[in-house]
Amino acid sequence: MARVTLKNLRHSYMPDPQGPDDFALKGLDVTWRDGGAYALLGPSGCGKSTLLNIISGLLTPSEGAILFDDEDVTQMTPDERHISQVFQFPVVYDTMTVRNNLAFPLKNRGVAPDRIKARVDEIAEMLEVTEMLDVRASNLSPDNKQKISMGRGLVRDDVNVIMFDEPLTVIDPHLKWKLRSKLKELHQRIKLTMIYVTHDQTEALTFADEVVVMQDGEVVQIGTPVELFERPQHTFVGHFIGSPGMNVLPCDAQGSHAIFEGHKVALEGAVTGHGGEVRLGIRPEHVRIGETGLPAQVIKISDVGRHFVVEVQIGESRLKVIVEGTAPTQGETVNVSFIPEKTRVYRNGWIATEVPK
Ligand code: ADP
Ligand code: MG
Repeated sequence: MARVTLKNLRHSYMPDPQGPDDFALKGLDVTWRDGGAYALLGPSGCGKSTLLNIISGLLTPSEGAILFDDEDVTQMTPDERHISQVFQFPVVYDTMTVRNNLAFPLKNRGVAPDRIKARVDEIAEMLEVTEMLDVRASNLSPDNKQKISMGRGLVRDDVNVIMFDEPLTVIDPHLKWKLRSKLKELHQRIKLTMIYVTHDQTEALTFADEVVVMQDGEVVQIGTPVELFERPQHTFVGHFIGSPGMNVLPCDAQGSHAIFEGHKVALEGAVTGHGGEVRLGIRPEHVRIGETGLPAQVIKISDVGRHFVVEVQIGESRLKVIVEGTAPTQGETVNVSFIPEKTRVYRNGWIATEVPK
């Protein structure tokens, strides 16, 4: 087990990269705590697989270093790094039985036969594939093959880190939830550093103690699910996490207020910085419809079961409001207010209000 540190990591797939656009990773400084359960979350193409392949040693970064505890492993081979990596699509030996597939990573490292058997049985039980142990892998369905692939990643107990690269893509939806909770359970038992890559916020938030959010080759925030929800450091995080995501609205900033559609709006703290593109960020959960506030017109109401998502128009802006209990009626004029402690401005995407005392 190890703490993994990425130092000023940059990577380009081009032989002669020029500007930032030529880099798939644009300068990452991240520390993954020993024993942590992490999710690496971001849209397709943001650099998640590139990052995993650099940690495992399949790729050498253009610049920067990777440390396991205090040891620089940047030039080490994948094998020397003692890492398990589970890929998006199954990697199994078709001609071998399930048992031999699971045993392979252990046999390869000269683990004693009785120890191998115990470990394979344990992993098989966890993944509910015990009855398939003597089946040839070629006869398995795609999701069972992927389960075996995950099992091969989990079977070694001498690894520094286990990494999963969108492992549930080919898995049936109802099985997904089950496997994810199994992984979480396993993590709680063995406390190995795990990095789970996904583009799905639900997967990330249910698996991880901490989520690393990436956008376009950069880390935009690292935090617990609660931190990402409560205080997004970037509009991207606010929008990407939450259902629906944070409202991001054009505004001006003035002292410790925002001017939104001609109205003065109180913020969590004083505004920092100058210039750039200024936006008001407020989650639908933190907007109230009541007796006082900005006049707004109700445009649309969606009943999503637990509550209503109400879309309102204020001047030129549209925003979403989560309403518990009774919903207003369409076309009605209502008053809308923002909880000041949850209302922030963002400058060029980044949070630009001071933390309240
Ligand atoms: P993700 O896993 O988040 O979907 P990737 O790490 O696969 O993202 O890709 C990040 C960027 O690097 C993308 O723009 C992708 O097109 C590019 N890329 C990935 N692999 C290669 C490769 N082998 N050669 C060239 N460009 C690549
Ligand atoms: Mg990928």
